Amino acid sequence: MTTRRPLIAGNWKMHGLKPSLQEFDRMVAAYDGDLRARTDLMICPPATLIATLAAAAGSSGVAVGGQDCHANAQGAHTGDIAAEMILDAGGSAVILGHSERRTDHGETDAAVRAKTLAAWRAGLVAVVCVGEHRQQREEGVALDLVRVQLAGSIPDGATAENLVIAYEPVWAIGTGLTPSVDDIAEMHGAIRAALVARFGEGVGGGIRILYGGSVKPANAAEILAVADVDGALVGGASLKAGDFIAIASAY
Ligand code: PEP
Repeated sequence: MTTRRPLIAGNWKMHGLKPSLQEFDRMVAAYDGDLRARTDLMICPPATLIATLAAAAGSSGVAVGGQDCHANAQGAHTGDIAAEMILDAGGSAVILGHSERRTDHGETDAAVRAKTLAAWRAGLVAVVCVGEHRQQREEGVALDLVRVQLAGSIPDGATAENLVIAYEPVWAIGTGLTPSVDDIAEMHGAIRAALVARFGEGVGGGIRILYGGSVKPANAAEILAVADVDGALVGGASLKAGDFIAIASAY
């Protein structure tokens, strides 16, 4: 059986100004001993804070990542950020294909695939998000939809080191709603099977699959205990060090 080191990743979305550094410093201070020994920790702040947080993380082992990148390394793309810029600022990973990007910016699987290649070109870990809308779950097509997203968003060349999948049911993000543990287990099992079928047991069995969507300290232990849940992508509850560390400690 492949051993996968858990990852608890925080997505700060469009939240965070310089004073947020104090919250991050508390996370860094809490990341030692047992927690550091057994779990990876990462915060993905707005692009404006990547360099600040990366400097504050120092040698603590807390990783810092971006929330999106452009497919190109440079060029006339006003307002965009290249994967190389995230790396240059001290980031080591980037979230791609988050449902808010897919909805707000019309990102397709093909666009996410191109961005994933860009992340790898720069040497970043790509955290690729997939997940169904409420209606798709009610219509019973969630598994098929996620399989299509995976096939279209992930390029050849994935490894257990350069790719993390985040299963985030859109209807669970920021709503306080979560799927049942049985539904999470079914989806994570299907994602694992798709990864193994495409990349083989060695790679597909080693890629981490995070669950995201209203993870809180109160439900973290139950969700993180589900088979093939290798950690969490946490939105709202990653803004406060106490909540985020409580979730990480629940694994
Ligand atoms: C997210 O933004 O990826 C997320 C999971 O948000 P929340 O935890 O707030 O539902």
